[in-house]
Amino acid sequence: MASQVFFMNDRANSLAESIKFKAVKVFRDAGLGELFSPGDWVGIKMHFGEHGNSLSLRPQYVRSIVEEIQRLGAHPVVVDCTTICFNEYSSRATRTDMLRTAARHGLTEETLGCPIWICDGEFGEEEVRVEVPHGVYLTHSYMGRGLKYLDAMIVLTHFKGHPMGVFGGALKNVGIGCGSKRGKLCTHLLNHPLYGIRNWGINQQAAQAAAQGPHPNGVDRLMKNCPFDAFRWENNTLHFDREKCQMCGACFGPGLFAGILQPPPEIMLLWAATIPDAFSAYVHAIGKDKIGYVTYAVDLTPWCDCVNWSDKPLVHNLGVFASKDPVAIDMACLEMSEARAVVPGSKAEELGFAEPGTERFTNCAGFAGVSQWAQINSAIYNGLGTSEYELIISSPVADDTEFWMKPYTPENPWGWVHRKEHHKIDWKVEPFTHRDLQFSMVDMSVKPKGKVAEREL
Ligand code: SF4
Repeated sequence: MASQVFFMNDRANSLAESIKFKAVKVFRDAGLGELFSPGDWVGIKMHFGEHGNSLSLRPQYVRSIVEEIQRLGAHPVVVDCTTICFNEYSSRATRTDMLRTAARHGLTEETLGCPIWICDGEFGEEEVRVEVPHGVYLTHSYMGRGLKYLDAMIVLTHFKGHPMGVFGGALKNVGIGCGSKRGKLCTHLLNHPLYGIRNWGINQQAAQAAAQGPHPNGVDRLMKNCPFDAFRWENNTLHFDREKCQMCGACFGPGLFAGILQPPPEIMLLWAATIPDAFSAYVHAIGKDKIGYVTYAVDLTPWCDCVNWSDKPLVHNLGVFASKDPVAIDMACLEMSEARAVVPGSKAEELGFAEPGTERFTNCAGFAGVSQWAQINSAIYNGLGTSEYELIISSPVADDTEFWMKPYTPENPWGWVHRKEHHKIDWKVEPFTHRDLQFSMVDMSVKPKGKVAEREL
């Protein structure tokens, strides 16, 4: 049976049409409020964005969902888990750093209107092992222990591309995001007995090229970022003391992106499949029928919010979706992104995938040539939902009173609330002198001279 996915686009000309309130409306239309009861602790799983990323979810996108959960009498709490330290400047790999990064992105208890829980402790040590009931590859993973205290969860997602999963939607928000550090090592297969980092090859040519740079060069940084001193540089050769390697992942970025470390090809092909495997373990531990999904499909960048930048989006904004089915909601986002026009100058245009009907994420996001459907097919195999869906176009609320910022209401509008102060203000107008109009309106509409030159610095 097809699942229902509720949708509204991002056009707006009124308060009720603001996308943050459209998110509340699709939340209601999808019946997500039925997933919890008054007094319940309801997690809002979101991604805070890595330092330098500029298009992760804005605080106001989250706040409207926080307030909706509060209106329903429950206790919202924004949740996430620490990341692997995957480069020399990871900004979310400890609880302290994650909260600092969130604050730099405007996400604090004050702006969100509810507490923030980092659910796997300061260094990811607070975790529980959870089983994958019917996975494609994984049999188990590890989840932030704090997530076990939730009564329900709303997965609030920014839909975009992802270098390993090919796209980052609701499945990835949970499948990667709810994992503790060890869980994330599992989904990335970095601690795998065969494919794990301990067994990765070394490209000595790339290492020698990196070592030519001024200190601290790429090799210096790779060696120093290993907390276990597993790398040595001797006789113009990078040595990897594999028995020292604890497969913590800290060399992943500096090693992989400089081409110094060479992962086996199998690992890249499996990444998209392991995300739904881990998703399955986590949602079964929290309560599969207690989880709802709201996705902002805006700023559809080629890569995820876990990189330190945001490239120009591939396609124009889609809007906001809600569903009880994580597979259907991701499928709806993928299909709509295929049909949408690309953003001029984007990577999709640059790589020749501007035509509607082309798989933008398969061709512009994943770096291993994996299909954007791999994650969906793995999720179906895991029994997480269906890719067949009915898209239901919602409409904004008819009465926007509840969305007014308090204390203002139609009965108590701003001018009424502040009338006493108005009577204390000196409104007298000074003598209003003016010149004769120096320009005609026709002259004012003429475009003035602009750019005189362009050059690269
Ligand atoms: S070599 Fe091993 S221990 Fe060192 S940073 Fe890489 S994964 Fe961690």
